[in-house]
Amino acid sequence: MNRAKIARATQASIRHLSRGISTHRTIPLIINGKDVISKTTFEAISPLTCKKASDCSSASEEHVQSAVAAAQAAFPAWATTKPSYRRDIFLTAADIMTKRREELGEYLNQEIGADQGYQDFIIGLSIEGLKDTAGRIAGACQGFVPESVHEGMKAMVLKRPYGVNLGIAPWNSPYHLGLRSVTFALATGNTAILKGAEFSPRCYWAIADIFRQAGLPAGVLNLLFHRPADAATVTESLIAHPNVKKINFTGSTKVGSILAASAGRHLKPCLMELGGKANAIVLKDADLDKAAVQCAMGAFMNAGQICMSTERILVDASVAGEFEPILKRTINDIFGTAGATPTLVTSASAARNRALVEDAVSKGATSLDIYSDEVGEMVETRMRPVVLTNVDESMELYGGESFGPSVSLYSFDSEDEAIELANDTEYGLTASVFTENLGSGFRIAEKLDSGAVHINSMTVHDEYSLPHGGVKKSGWGRFNGHQGLNEFLYCKTVTWMD
Ligand code: NAD
Repeated sequence: MNRAKIARATQASIRHLSRGISTHRTIPLIINGKDVISKTTFEAISPLTCKKASDCSSASEEHVQSAVAAAQAAFPAWATTKPSYRRDIFLTAADIMTKRREELGEYLNQEIGADQGYQDFIIGLSIEGLKDTAGRIAGACQGFVPESVHEGMKAMVLKRPYGVNLGIAPWNSPYHLGLRSVTFALATGNTAILKGAEFSPRCYWAIADIFRQAGLPAGVLNLLFHRPADAATVTESLIAHPNVKKINFTGSTKVGSILAASAGRHLKPCLMELGGKANAIVLKDADLDKAAVQCAMGAFMNAGQICMSTERILVDASVAGEFEPILKRTINDIFGTAGATPTLVTSASAARNRALVEDAVSKGATSLDIYSDEVGEMVETRMRPVVLTNVDESMELYGGESFGPSVSLYSFDSEDEAIELANDTEYGLTASVFTENLGSGFRIAEKLDSGAVHINSMTVHDEYSLPHGGVKKSGWGRFNGHQGLNEFLYCKTVTWMD
């Protein structure tokens, strides 16, 4: 089907779709192109009200088997489609997402409490990411023709998809993270099972539904959810299944190590995108006003619930006294009113984050006084941004990922001291350096143990065209751009004698 035909089919689908999503009382699984409502369900709670947002289907072993069977059956035909055919479906999916932006934003707001700014950021990133991947498909699937070392022998290297892929993604940025856990696989001719997150199921259902409406053949993408209590059994069953050939996981380091162990037991290749503890280093020659905005946004966007959130700000001691009031004023300006106070996804994560701050303060940390206004009544999922000083190794916040709205402020006397402190964490996902001197920025960037370093921009920086991934316990493998596509292809070497 060419793009014009897909577009016509899509127009009718969109009309049906708008009705479909809003009328689902229980969010279905999608297996072999069909919605499947399970007998067992679980509740998704909205952090805005702390009340039920929806019921969601929960996969049984039978659903797991059907989803893998559908993906396996769809693989041979999908793997041999032309790259241009897959490109057109991706572009159509991007068009549908664009048309349904508002509705997708509402789900994001309802399920994770995302404000307008975060909605725009995530949905825009997702749409542009789809288009970027679409444009790269033909190039990524090209093999190459190297010289053989043997006389009279010729060789070529083909790039081939693995087969059925399992993508497991977290709740905190569902469109973007859910999409990337399947789009690079689908683009390169694999089929996929997307295991959506239990806090944002409607967002995940929308992803799979948009692809269905964009003309993706039945079985190529299947969607499963499970209630929290079934996480280990459902996931183990999927990873162990002989027809599941590759796994990618985005989530916490704790769960990542469980899943990597399981993948290892079954000798399945896996890509791991895990937790972070991002450092922002402010050098003495930095533009302090600009650095403060980037540090505040990097720390508190989406209530700090981003893997790349700034969790430590390290400031050259000679400008630390000047920087602190600028940072406080900036945070007060952006997050000072009750309306802008970030919402955490559950009351349990808000309670955990309050406890982390209390633990630090009880052991000698200082919580800076930032706000000029009083906060009105707040639901239990809301927590104001906190900046702490005097945080040390005795406190959990020092090395552990908070994944919430607190940041620790340190000062340093030398570049080496800043690098040593920044690297003193088991994570290594992203970092920032603020300086007017690019040479200093590059010098420090080279020495940071981090999958990415952003000079003069915030640690929250995930471009669909640039490789994204971590080192150390932040994981391995890369999503995005050319590297992201290559993760889902293996090389097959073919030789022949003349
Ligand atoms: P999580 O690890 O608790 O959950 C992620 C996924 O794993 C969910 O789909 C969940 O259902 C599933 N899961 C949970 N427990 C499981 C178990 N025992 N067995 C199998 N599956 C299980 O993470 P989260 O709270 O959803 O997300 C936050 C974490 O994700 C943070 O640590 C954050 O840094 C990380 N993250 C990393 C990236 C990245 O690109 N590196 C991006 C976003 C989030």
